[in-house]
Amino acid sequence: MSGHSEDDLVSVLRRILSGDAPGVFLGPGDDAALVEMGPHLGILTVDMMVEDVHFDRRLVSPHDLGYKAVAVNVSDVAAMGGSPRYGLVALAIPADLPASWVVELYGGIREGADAYAMAVVGGDTSRAERIVVSVTVTGEVSRGAAVTRSGASPGDRIVVTGALGASAAGLRLATAPPAEVAALVSTDWGRDLVASHTRPVARVGEGQALASAGATAMIDVSDGLAMDLGRLCRESGVGVRLSLASLPVAPGVREVADAFRLDALAIALGGGEDYELLATLPEDAVEPAAERLEDRFATALTQIGVITEGPDLVAVGADGERQLEPLGWDHFAG
Ligand SMILES: [Mg+2]
Repeated sequence: MSGHSEDDLVSVLRRILSGDAPGVFLGPGDDAALVEMGPHLGILTVDMMVEDVHFDRRLVSPHDLGYKAVAVNVSDVAAMGGSPRYGLVALAIPADLPASWVVELYGGIREGADAYAMAVVGGDTSRAERIVVSVTVTGEVSRGAAVTRSGASPGDRIVVTGALGASAAGLRLATAPPAEVAALVSTDWGRDLVASHTRPVARVGEGQALASAGATAMIDVSDGLAMDLGRLCRESGVGVRLSLASLPVAPGVREVADAFRLDALAIALGGGEDYELLATLPEDAVEPAAERLEDRFATALTQIGVITEGPDLVAVGADGERQLEPLGWDHFAG
């Protein structure tokens, strides 16, 4: 942050985050924020984005990065069936990073917070060799309405919102040499794929609708369907029969897979960062839940398999059955 003191920057960030927000008694600027907590269960979640691990400064705008840092946390609140309320932002930046980069980041954070009707009420800044953006989000859910990963039972149907593979395909398009992918990126679906990666949508309303439709377990697809489905099954102590032919592959993913000689199904299973909701429902709750999501949010709900006694995770394809490999994005494997 050449030429700016931390206090100067903080005063700019306070202006970006200013304004009245429901439930905020005292926002950024004091030792701590004061907010109404309400009678419901509190939800607390944090997500860290580290430069060169989660993002490349040259490939993502600070505005998009800020928006995404909020949305991925909101997605975790959505996966509990809750509503996001407040956010805290911890930011570490190299000394030579222009102040304008930070201001744009906060513009994206503010936009993301507004999109989900939540307020950013404080944070902290520090120096570091690489950029680290850590966002903490609180939310709330009424007692009895919270959905965890651990409630799935044999016979439950597995459903997923929206479509899969869009973010990973969008990342491919965004990181390839522009001349190679110009024809793909200029299509409607090409633009949608890139936007899925840079501006993910957290399924807050859908999560609440699934909870009230009787979801027995739920998780957001952050690290790839296969990996996150494996986590849900492990926590529930169940197995699964996943129908590969039923997977809702996002428009354009097959075209991107063809262009890069990849397998579209592998992208849908392991791509990650889709932030769709993966839930289990009793069989008779699937149809009403799908109608409700379509009517209220224009979001598709697709049945993709059934929960079994376990412990096997089985993928059923046209060529037979195989073990579902937990392929997906592993931050430690890199
Ligand atoms: Mg999650």
